Amino acid sequence: MSESTAELYCVFGNPISHSKSPAIHNRFALQTGENLHYEARLAPIDGFVASVQAFIAEGGRGANVTVPFKEEAFRLCHELTPRAQLAGAVNTLSFAGKRIVGDNTDGAGLVRDLLSNLNTPLAGRRLLLLGAGGAARGAIGPLLEQTPASLFIANRTASKAAGLAQHFSALGNVQGGAYQDLAGQQFEIVINATSASLGGNVPPLPEDVFAPDALAYDMMYGKTDTPFIAMARAAGVTRLADGLGMLVEQAAEAFLVWRHIRPETAAVLDTLRHA
Ligand code: NDP
Repeated sequence: MSESTAELYCVFGNPISHSKSPAIHNRFALQTGENLHYEARLAPIDGFVASVQAFIAEGGRGANVTVPFKEEAFRLCHELTPRAQLAGAVNTLSFAGKRIVGDNTDGAGLVRDLLSNLNTPLAGRRLLLLGAGGAARGAIGPLLEQTPASLFIANRTASKAAGLAQHFSALGNVQGGAYQDLAGQQFEIVINATSASLGGNVPPLPEDVFAPDALAYDMMYGKTDTPFIAMARAAGVTRLADGLGMLVEQAAEAFLVWRHIRPETAAVLDTLRHA
């Protein structure tokens, strides 16, 4: 496989040096025999659009987008897939000439991680989603597609959770509110889509919010327990998962969008887990 003829992809973010996406996509390329090269690109905070345009001029075929550019990417696209439209954010760009098509694979990646890697069906289950930012927004449509019994969105700024519940109300039984509204309720799957863990914090959940045999899932990941996972473990939860599987699955979904071939994820996830 020749580097010089390889088709070029990248991930834009700021910061970006920590990104695992190049390692993931370059492994997918090796595994599938696709002739592509994928790298991390730092976009200036006020220079995302110019960075994308320069990349297209260089011959770039597609790009992932991460913090803090997903909403800006949404506004940049000439065309959006239905799931990107619904999410209001874009993490996957495809370039067809100068035309930019936007997709969002984050929610599909989360759902695939839950269903396939964690053997956790969502149909008929009571789901709690913590947070109402971009990651939560991307997850709600794909979660509701799985026909859970209910989905409650809880957020520090309760009005944002209520607004999201309203936005997605046609897709299923979804409600939104504050953490205090969780008193007396139990959930079988609790997904942390807040960025609280980044600051070493956890959302203020009632202790008995986890149903027996509940799964606690943190979209954030790390070498050791995230603060949310540590809190769930201390509350007696034994089914625990971080967001590394979601990261690999959203990448696989983006690879499928670009190359029309779905890579195997298990070995890649295993390698990253033990890196
Ligand atoms: P946003 O900045 O868009 O949203 C942050 C959310 O966290 C808001 O709901 C905010 O509440 C809430 N929050 C922040 N600090 C606290 C706190 N101390 N206590 C309670 N709530 C808090 O971030 P994103 O949605 O883009 O990302 C959220 C997380 O998901 C990040 O950790 C990110 O790394 C992870 N992620 C993982 C992915 C993966 O593939 N594994 C993919 C995408 C994201 P408020 O509205 O009140 O400010």
